Amino acid sequence: MKRALFATLLALVSGAACADVDYQLRILDAAHHLAEVSATFPAVTGNTLDVQMPIWRTGRYEVLNLSNGVRRFKAANQKGEALPVIKTDKGTWRVQTHPNDKVTVSYELYANLLGERTRHIDDTHAYLDASGVFVYAAPYRGQPVAVKLDVPAGWQSRSGMEPGSCPHCFVAPNYDVLVDSPIETGIHEFYTSQVDGKEIDVAIWGRGNYDGKKMVQDLDKIVAQTARLYGGKYPFQHRYLFIVHATDGIGGATEHINSTVIQIPRWRFHEHKDYLRFLNTAAHEFFHTWNVKAYRPKEMVPYDYQHENYNPLLWVAEGNTSYFEELITLRAGLQKRDEFLEGFAKAIDDYRHTPGRFQQSASESSFDEWIAGGGSDRARNASVNIYSKGMLLGLAMDLELRRQTSGAKGLEDVHRILYEQHSVAQGGYDAADIRAALKQVSGQDWSAWWSQYVDGTAEIPFESLLKDAGLQYTIDVPKDADDKQEWWAGWRVREGSDPAVVTEVERDSPAWKAGVVAGDTLIAVNGIRVSGKDLSDKLLLAKDAPFKVHLFRRDELRELEVTPVLQPKGKAKLKELDKPGAGQKMLDAAWLGVPWPKDEPAKK
Ligand SMILES: [Zn+2]
Repeated sequence: MKRALFATLLALVSGAACADVDYQLRILDAAHHLAEVSATFPAVTGNTLDVQMPIWRTGRYEVLNLSNGVRRFKAANQKGEALPVIKTDKGTWRVQTHPNDKVTVSYELYANLLGERTRHIDDTHAYLDASGVFVYAAPYRGQPVAVKLDVPAGWQSRSGMEPGSCPHCFVAPNYDVLVDSPIETGIHEFYTSQVDGKEIDVAIWGRGNYDGKKMVQDLDKIVAQTARLYGGKYPFQHRYLFIVHATDGIGGATEHINSTVIQIPRWRFHEHKDYLRFLNTAAHEFFHTWNVKAYRPKEMVPYDYQHENYNPLLWVAEGNTSYFEELITLRAGLQKRDEFLEGFAKAIDDYRHTPGRFQQSASESSFDEWIAGGGSDRARNASVNIYSKGMLLGLAMDLELRRQTSGAKGLEDVHRILYEQHSVAQGGYDAADIRAALKQVSGQDWSAWWSQYVDGTAEIPFESLLKDAGLQYTIDVPKDADDKQEWWAGWRVREGSDPAVVTEVERDSPAWKAGVVAGDTLIAVNGIRVSGKDLSDKLLLAKDAPFKVHLFRRDELRELEVTPVLQPKGKAKLKELDKPGAGQKMLDAAWLGVPWPKDEPAKK
């Protein structure tokens, strides 16, 4: 108590310098991605101090071996005396200490993992996610930290953390806040605005075809709309930071406590479809500020940085977030109702071409996300993805709740309960807590539903769920199309590849039965050369099956006979029923938060 008070007083008097764990990072050679890092821990009591780097970073459920960028690790005490260090595992350094030694460790860090969103340093910026940059010692994980950066002149530093007492300095109440508050330092465009009394900051690194001012306006709409889902209650106090990386060869985004980093290829901001994808990603990450950062599965409270945090509910953490991202941009007026429905029609169509949906449940997929490894040619045949399956379960839960409550309540009410009753501070949630929230909202028991669709692999009844909202799932064949049918073999080829490289073959499809496998290079169908650019057009030339297919497999020529089937040539669509009842239209409008299309006031 005394010590804490003393520390607080000291911190008030002299700022960051007196925080319990001090981190410094000096950029040594920006172009070659090198920095020098040091961490100073308070006086130790034992004879050793284990200093560690996490094996994964929050928001990405995969072991990343982050310690592999560390070299020349050294330790010393406050008198400058070198302390012996041995490594006890891939990311643990054991420092031998004397009583009351204040231990400073230092190391050279190689930071060239831009796409992993952990650490990247070059001559224009540095992106620093502490889990891949700053080591910690378990006894001091809860202590306040201070970070001081030594960066090239002209750079600016941003983070969700509070600023410290000097330029390029930050402070955080503990290591967990530090690892969940990445730093963007360098040359970037910066914007700031206000939504509901909160400061919304945007830092954009990299040149590209974006319009920063428009981006800020649209992000503000996302912020306001997301907060509405939670009754206007924000999980952060006064400030949120969007970090945008616009460069080449990257894509993806990561959520943090009161910030996010979004990576988009630099020329993917202008076309409407591209820009909408960016906005959906931003909505996804911002929704995570509640779903994952404010409340998450109890197995991840607190995070265990040295082990996989296995749990069966990542489909809620990720997939439900993918569901709400679409609803947020729809309600914010950033995408049209038709675009929203088109996205879900495509998602259902993709899911129905995922034979793995009968092999793995959403719970199993969540547990195994740590070994999913970004998928493989077998992924779709043997697995479901926590994002797409969780998104479709989100759709199914929302529609079922709307049906049970005559439109009055939905999935957002369930998430509001999780936020209010199962926050990180309250210990997180488990499956029983979600079922209880579903029951609280609907008055109905969800146990059977859960065992069928979450723990089991029963087919989700989209048709009947959508019908309640006046919609039907269909493959829409344009009336004036020249070809109303096409051949389906069940192979997927790398887009634009020439010759056509097979990337996946759907289990039990005609190509599967004929023995075509991923990695095969298709050369000719019925004696006519094919490529990844024109394969489906060339197949249209065929009048009858079977097809004679020539392909190379590891340089050896093979000839196979494939018997594809004819199917309607069109796009999956969610269409309004011709004569919906008032109840269906009401449920649809309550669900989507936008009017039934034919009920919209006529445009003048
Ligand atoms: Zn996510």
